[in-house]
Amino acid sequence: MPRASAVRFSHFLPSLLLLLAGLSAAYVKDLNVFFTSLFNVLPTLVLLLGGAYCAVYRRQRELFLMITVYIAYFLLDTQTDFYRDNGWVRDDAAVVFHLCCLLLPLLFGIYALWQERTHLFRDFVARCAVLLAIGSVALGLEQSYPQPLLNWLAEIRWPALHGTWMSLIQLSYPMFFLAFILLGVQYWRQPRPLHAAQLVGLLGLFWMLPQTFILPFTLNIMCSQVMLMIAAGVSHEAYQMAFRDELTGLPGRRALNERMQRLGRSYVLAMGDVDHFKRFNDTHGHDVGDQVLRLVASKLSKVSGGGRAYRYGGEEFAVVFAGKTLDECLPHLEEIRQIIANYNIRLRNPDRPQDNHQGRQRRAGSGATSVSVTLSIGVAERQAEQRTPEEVLKSADQALYNAKGAGRNCVVAAGQNRRGAVRMGSAAG
Ligand code: GH3
Ligand code: MG
Ligand code: MG
Repeated sequence: MPRASAVRFSHFLPSLLLLLAGLSAAYVKDLNVFFTSLFNVLPTLVLLLGGAYCAVYRRQRELFLMITVYIAYFLLDTQTDFYRDNGWVRDDAAVVFHLCCLLLPLLFGIYALWQERTHLFRDFVARCAVLLAIGSVALGLEQSYPQPLLNWLAEIRWPALHGTWMSLIQLSYPMFFLAFILLGVQYWRQPRPLHAAQLVGLLGLFWMLPQTFILPFTLNIMCSQVMLMIAAGVSHEAYQMAFRDELTGLPGRRALNERMQRLGRSYVLAMGDVDHFKRFNDTHGHDVGDQVLRLVASKLSKVSGGGRAYRYGGEEFAVVFAGKTLDECLPHLEEIRQIIANYNIRLRNPDRPQDNHQGRQRRAGSGATSVSVTLSIGVAERQAEQRTPEEVLKSADQALYNAKGAGRNCVVAAGQNRRGAVRMGSAAG
């Protein structure tokens, strides 16, 4: 299911930075000995480290993407080395280069779209088989019929579509285009850092190929950068798994614990808990419950006053106000409590008819069910007697307990009595 709200620029940022670094490095002229030696070993180094990293995380898709890029690098590097040393290209340079232009986007696209299966060994064998099949057919043809193959590759099939800027074989462009579209759709359907890295990586390869024989270290630099993008995508996802809550997209408990270690001398912690959520789940079902948790999280993530929301666990959320006092935070918490309480969530009928016209009629007749939830909030400030964040959080939790006792749907500060609580949350009940 497409989740436009999950599309984030941050998914693309590491890859775009690597791409930019690669582009800048490729244009540097007269590299010194240090960088020349570095760029010579970089792709192999990145493959070994990145490959080991992917193997540890059991990410075969990424491993095979790296291997594909490395094979292309290896084949083309042999050609560019010869060209650099002798001033002319090898006899098989054209056919090898054109094959790479055709097969690199093809294999990169296949592996990038090929989701991992649960059975790791079978998955590995299947991926190896595809690589071997395509590789051996290409090698066999290249050895047996170099000239006919070259003619077939270099043929301009659609003269009307051939621009003067196209320096690769014509067949390469539809291949890249198709891969871009499919990877774009994949990212749109599943907005993950890795899918973003694959898209930017493909862009890097598309830029690299025409420069192969023009800019001296383009090949080494861009292949390394693309492999690094994939490795960075894997780390980004590992980080997200550890620190981000999958259901709501908010940072999770671990992120909160980490944040709590970096709080200064003055801060406020709030704990929020959805009221009667068990009953809500029992009435409307767990899926609707999940939908509501996402909604509450999205409202909480927009809390004003510099607060940062976390999913503490279940239907409990924490909000951290760093460098703030209790009086500064209370109005913002009260505001968010009201926003959530006043928000009507429209539910789709589970027996919704498939037919749109019928559906409209039925919705107009009976009206879609609309529900709402409320949030109780307990809040505590760092004080002389509560020095550690854990103690402050405990106080906020106690205040939350008091808020529940005061009738729910209200904000209670630590040390505030229950009567005070009911006054603050006027809609409580
Ligand atoms: P109170 O007002 O006292 O907080 O009552 P409550 O029913 O909200 O409290 P309780 O802690 O008994 O129930 C919490 C419920 O939240 C139980 C569980 O079914 C539900 N819940 C926890 N995590 C999730 C989740 O990820 N999705 C859904 N749909 N429900 C969840
Ligand atoms: Mg609870
Ligand atoms: Mg609850």
